[in-house]
Amino acid sequence: MPNMSLNKVVMPEQDPAVRSRNFKEVSLGYTKEMAIEEAQRCLNCKNPRCVSGCPVNVDIPRFISKLAAGDADGALSVISETSSLPAVCGRVCPQETQCEAKCVRGIKGEPVAIGRLERYAADNGKISAPGRIELNGHKVAIVGAGPSGLTCAGDLAKLGYSVTVFEAFHVPGGVLIYGIPEFRLPKTIVASEIDKLKALGVHFETNYIVGHTLTVDELMKEEGFEAVFVGSGAGLPSFMNIPGENLNGVYSANEFLTRINLMKAYLPDAKTPVMIPKTAMIVGAGNVAMDAARCALRIGSENVYILYRRGEEEMPARKEEIHHAKEEGVIFHTLSAPVEIEGDENGFVKRVKCIKMELGEADDSGRRRPHPVKGSEYYIDADCVIMAIGTSPNPLIRTTTPDLETNRHGCIVADESTGKTSKEGVFAGGDAVTGAATVILAMGAGKNAAKAIDEYLKNK
Ligand code: FAD
Ligand code: SF4
Repeated sequence: MPNMSLNKVVMPEQDPAVRSRNFKEVSLGYTKEMAIEEAQRCLNCKNPRCVSGCPVNVDIPRFISKLAAGDADGALSVISETSSLPAVCGRVCPQETQCEAKCVRGIKGEPVAIGRLERYAADNGKISAPGRIELNGHKVAIVGAGPSGLTCAGDLAKLGYSVTVFEAFHVPGGVLIYGIPEFRLPKTIVASEIDKLKALGVHFETNYIVGHTLTVDELMKEEGFEAVFVGSGAGLPSFMNIPGENLNGVYSANEFLTRINLMKAYLPDAKTPVMIPKTAMIVGAGNVAMDAARCALRIGSENVYILYRRGEEEMPARKEEIHHAKEEGVIFHTLSAPVEIEGDENGFVKRVKCIKMELGEADDSGRRRPHPVKGSEYYIDADCVIMAIGTSPNPLIRTTTPDLETNRHGCIVADESTGKTSKEGVFAGGDAVTGAATVILAMGAGKNAAKAIDEYLKNK
């Protein structure tokens, strides 16, 4: 008999007052009993709608039924048939707009907590590593060690390719390492995924900027790589072009988060400094904005504001992140936008002139377009402004790779199901193609490209 409780089993968490001042993981994960109880809420539907909501089509009812029987190893083995980073996805995927949005249990009550169960299986299940793989003699280069590149690398290595991942930073992981904070995704989890790839024979070259150290063409012509997958992400921050953005104390969220997450600027002996704002204003309301706001609290800010030009309904961040940010004391100013950042006599941010917004007709994104309300300007005192209004791909790859078609947003043009680009032997996927998106979509793109690269090299 399924468990017909209308609500998900609650996930234990650190207390908001305590966690808002430390970098330890916020959500503590289900115990075995909790996982079994939640798994028993699944109806094991004949035509499970949840599976179609998952971009990599994990066989959700099958893995959940293993958990309901207390078999975490079996559950992990099912998930691993299609997903290569379950411990990551269980923590950061926007399940409420994907698999859980489709779950029939959501019609009356809360959907099954698919994400929490995935996390439980990944943290507690064990599967044996694949045996030694015979190399097939073909070399493939991967540009970027984010989720798309790592997934593509893993799948190709399992097929016997000799794979080298070239990563600009000194640590592989992409946004999972430099962007998403420790309190949402412990870095030991990312490191263990990288170790699994190393065990498969994937070789990592860090501190290697493709386009500077060698170009894509040079990798192919001089280094003998027969195919290249570009998974270089969308790490170039956007700014608003309002007066005062050059003042001291204005950061892009990417810079602020990289200093804190990758360079551990919050530790007393860290070599990379970061400003400890008294009052931080974060502009934007996506996951990046929530992460910046919650990091600002944790490094010691007294007041942290989120300024967002639309309403709470339209916020792109995961619901859980918004909920956690509020619990921790982040103050939300919705329907508001900055128009000017004012500085003091030393060139440091002093206050921000804001304007109230109202929502009009829906725009191309389907969300209602915000308009400024005339005469509604007001000021918020702040010594730090963090811009989290979006990112686009860094231009380096496109400017150093002739024949690689890109669109007007600077994204690489690639076939959605194969990652094939306009350039022979070059494939691409993840944020470098779609613009800033999600971990699971980047992984899906890496998976598709690995299949297509295998086909391409077999038929070459
Ligand atoms: P990335 O993860 O960006 O990795 C690209 C890698 O390529 C980087 O390591 C970069 O250094 C490297 N690189 C770039 N150029 C070069 C070059 N020329 N040579 C060598 N290496 C290069 N998604 C979710 O699903 N859930 C979340 O909760 C979530 N939170 C987020 C929070 C933050 C702060 C950010 C920034 C993003 C978040 N995202 C989230 C989005 C998600 O992380 C990205 O969509 C995903 O990481 C994209 O993967 P990718 O492999 O395409 O690129
Ligand atoms: Fe289980 Fe919900 Fe998927 Fe049905 S839709 S199989 S109840 S998780």
